[in-house]
Amino acid sequence: MRLAILSQRGGVGKTTVAISLLEFWKAPLYELELGFPKLWPAEPEFRETVTWRLSRFDRQQCDLCEECVKNCQFGALVREGEVIKHRGFRCRGCGLCKEVCPRKAISLKEIKLGEIAKGEWEKVPVYAARFLRGGTLEGVLWSHLYEKFPLGENAILKAPLGLNGENLQAVKEAESLLLLTTPSRAVEEISLFAEIVQGIGLPGAVLLNFSTEKTKDLRVKAESKGLWWAGEIPPLDDLSHGLLKAYPSVQDIFVRLLEPEKGGYNA
Ligand code: SF4
Ligand code: SF4
Repeated sequence: MRLAILSQRGGVGKTTVAISLLEFWKAPLYELELGFPKLWPAEPEFRETVTWRLSRFDRQQCDLCEECVKNCQFGALVREGEVIKHRGFRCRGCGLCKEVCPRKAISLKEIKLGEIAKGEWEKVPVYAARFLRGGTLEGVLWSHLYEKFPLGENAILKAPLGLNGENLQAVKEAESLLLLTTPSRAVEEISLFAEIVQGIGLPGAVLLNFSTEKTKDLRVKAESKGLWWAGEIPPLDDLSHGLLKAYPSVQDIFVRLLEPEKGGYNA
């Protein structure tokens, strides 16, 4: 089972839930967060810089002949009015556009994209990707992490919730999805999550980080969209000893998440 734990924002307890699941299940964890990942290993046993080649354009030289657009096999180039637009997240750095440009208007630049690392948490492998530049290339970094450390039969993927290509790239190998949300934003996040779950045809569950008087309505909303209501984590002041110790019944939720056919939430 490859279970992806998703949230749209920070501060909803995703790291706490992911670590608790790792402690309970002992499955490798893939940290696929944007920015600086919370589970980046303090002392990585493996660490590698990931670079990427991008094409650059000298717009003064370009006469808009569109040879580069026609030859780019990855759809990274498109003419928009009087400029050639470069969609960096699609560029594979193959250099063909540079070769075919009659005006020598294109150069290739190598950029430092980020880093990947392997460490351990409670003797269980943790794989993490760290993005060093803003933009839309997160999916490239995550693909690199998966190539270097292929997913096994069991894995926890800790990833952002979103409909864009990079976010979907992070969870494309998942077999089941869990949304972690809080009452203040649950309505919008459940709708977005349901769209993703239906779009990719996987079982989806919702876990609410602390219950309120709205919980019943949120549950009805989630179930009306075909999602399984995994439950609520009660407000807890002290999680310093871990969620499992503070709230042992979360184990029942984990058991059902790991066996969706028994949990009754198959898509
Ligand atoms: S380097 Fe290759 S992938 Fe990138 S824009 Fe040029 S032709 Fe397209
Ligand atoms: S091939 Fe060169 S000159 Fe032609 S549109 Fe592309 S960048 Fe401009």
